[in-house]
Amino acid sequence: MDFAPSPLARQLHERLLAFMDRYLLPYNAAWHAAVQAGDYPPPFLEDLKALAREEGLWNLFLPTLREDEPGTRLCHLDYAPLAEAMGRLPWAPEVFNCHAPDTGNIELLHRFATPAQRAAWLVPLLGGQMRSAFAMSEPDVASSDPTNLQTTVRREGDDLVLSGRKWFITGAAHPHCRLLIVLCRNADADHASSHHRHSMVLVPVDTPGVQIVRNIPVLHHHAPEGHCEILLQGVRVPAHHLLGAWGAGFAMAQARLGPGRVHHCMRTIGQCELALQLAAGRALERTAFGKPLADQANVQEWIAESRIEIDQARLLVLHAAWLLDQGSAVDVQQTRAQVAAIKVVAARLQQRVVDRAMQIFGAMGLSPDTPLAAFWTWGRALRLMDGPDEVHLRSVARHELDRARAGLGDAAAYFTTPEQLRAPPHLSA
Ligand SMILES: Cc1cc2nc3c(=O)[nH]c(=O)nc-3n(C[C@H](O)[C@H](O)[C@H](O)COP(=O)(O)OP(=O)(O)OC[C@H]3O[C@@H](n4cnc5c(N)ncnc54)[C@H](O)[C@@H]3O)c2cc1C
Repeated sequence: MDFAPSPLARQLHERLLAFMDRYLLPYNAAWHAAVQAGDYPPPFLEDLKALAREEGLWNLFLPTLREDEPGTRLCHLDYAPLAEAMGRLPWAPEVFNCHAPDTGNIELLHRFATPAQRAAWLVPLLGGQMRSAFAMSEPDVASSDPTNLQTTVRREGDDLVLSGRKWFITGAAHPHCRLLIVLCRNADADHASSHHRHSMVLVPVDTPGVQIVRNIPVLHHHAPEGHCEILLQGVRVPAHHLLGAWGAGFAMAQARLGPGRVHHCMRTIGQCELALQLAAGRALERTAFGKPLADQANVQEWIAESRIEIDQARLLVLHAAWLLDQGSAVDVQQTRAQVAAIKVVAARLQQRVVDRAMQIFGAMGLSPDTPLAAFWTWGRALRLMDGPDEVHLRSVARHELDRARAGLGDAAAYFTTPEQLRAPPHLSA
């Protein structure tokens, strides 16, 4: 097992960091000012995207891209440090066409779209000419269990008709969002098993009956691209807008999440690294009671704990990326459990590391003058996004219990029973 990046990945990593320093950071204040003024996306975004594409820093995430599709074809392990670098600046991934939820949607379309669907949606997504959203969660049912979903799709002649309500749909308020990938319950699903009752439908945002009801603030934070509530009222699309097979939506949704979680976790680790870097710098520069904060034992402990926890988390995420790269050559259940584990670890990490950094910064840490408050809020949201911690812990536990069940009794030799004490074995030559 070797987590060292390939020479190409190393080179791209250096170029990406240099690009961010040279072109993105100088625009950071302008980005926030534009968003606050409601001028989203800021006018310079398209110029930065064009520049990134020209420099070959485009679609860095998808290993299975075809020869005629733009991108670098890095494996998951090689992409991970790039995601970490982009994570430091939350608006950076869009510049490189590596932003959620489009990355996950691109993966879905890449695997399951028909040639006509590829031409209509995948090509413009890979080109960065449009954005998309993934609509699964619903206000009326516990959406951490997608078998509950109630938005229905029924077949009517050559059409599919959708009705229901979705919410927290990230990206749906982006002015360039043209496509919703909607996970629905099949109206004729009564006899299908709970994992074969759902289908995915490609719904253009401007289809009559689609209504963006509101952009829901998250912990009072207003995301310009939106986490939207969407009403679908008798939304009618042609039957060829079905993505994949009828009834295969649940399995496709599961497949979508693996690489996306590695991306999220590595971006989180990037934010934690930045938080630690800022905190350590502040601790060295700020003096209280006659000495720098960095001389206080508790501050040193916070810094050390953050360093240790970030490095532990990174290794775990890289291992998950490596497992994903191995595909079916490794135990797929182990990969799933590992991907579930990193989601829990990264979200918790972000809250702890950023919380310590905010404390070191004092009141400034809670202001918008540093990225810490936004990072901390995001860390809290991460504990629910893509499924709550508890559901991921359940997956990890189930895998572990399955392994234990398969090898029940294997570790019995480690017991020290009264029988063994009474009759210890004798070594024979
Ligand atoms: C910022 C943000 C962005 C999001 N973006 C999207 C998006 O783009 N598309 C989309 O479809 N959804 C999105 N979501 C929604 C997110 O996926 C759901 O909130 C999540 O899956 C949980 O569903 P729920 O809110 O219905 O919670 P529920 O399913 O009602 O669960 C509530 C709580 O019950 C507990 N629980 C549930 N199951 C178990 C279990 N098995 N064991 C123990 N406890 C359990 C957990 O503590 C959980 O937090 C987003 C959410 C946020 C906050």
